[in-house]
Amino acid sequence: MSLETVPKDLRNLRACLLCSLVKTFEQFELDGCDNCEEYLHMKNNSDTVYDCTSSNFDGMVAMMSPEDSWVAKWQRIGRFAKGCYAISVTGRLPPGRVRDLKRKGIIYRPRDTSTKT
Ligand SMILES: [Zn+2]
Repeated sequence: MSLETVPKDLRNLRACLLCSLVKTFEQFELDGCDNCEEYLHMKNNSDTVYDCTSSNFDGMVAMMSPEDSWVAKWQRIGRFAKGCYAISVTGRLPPGRVRDLKRKGIIYRPRDTSTKT
């Protein structure tokens, strides 16, 4: 595989708090999030990478053809870039970020499914 969205190694992996894409810290810092860069601006900004990604996540799915994957639909990632996605991400975006998103018309739904009631 030579996809840019696939983690280059398994250490230092983080999951995006908005879309649950999994990449290494370096990849997030270098390329930003493939789905959320427009909103989160992680590129060349390690503080933002720390704010908007979490190193604490459970499970991983590799999504190669989002259009016809039921897993992708289930995880609400059907329209995202191909790559590896966490099933559940622990943590939340900082409140300021959530407000920013709201202003842009995006309702933030935390991806932490382990504490859902
Ligand atoms: Zn993202």
